[in-house]
Amino acid sequence: MHRTEARGEVAQKLKLCPFCGALNSVERKSCYNCLWHGVFEFDHAIVSASVNEIDPDVLFAMGVGLPAQNWRERLSERVRLFATAIKHKVSYVLSIRRHTPV
Ligand SMILES: [Zn+2]
Repeated sequence: MHRTEARGEVAQKLKLCPFCGALNSVERKSCYNCLWHGVFEFDHAIVSASVNEIDPDVLFAMGVGLPAQNWRERLSERVRLFATAIKHKVSYVLSIRRHTPV
């Protein structure tokens, strides 16, 4: 997934408060920031422009805009750590068995 596509997807889930300019979830009834509960700005171009002002590192921290390769790398890292953990656990259990007098 490209960074711009991910941002576009984020923008689709957001609306802009016309009163304070805060980005809000489309599901919100009132602005989280100023409690405005009138008409919100849903225009995709305008909301996207606001999303584009967000620091890419912030979006990255929220899990948005991760390049596919990174995502796969992270997943394979998780799988590797999980496999290592299991291996350790198995050898730990085996070592207990070995040292436990029958
Ligand atoms: Zn507001």
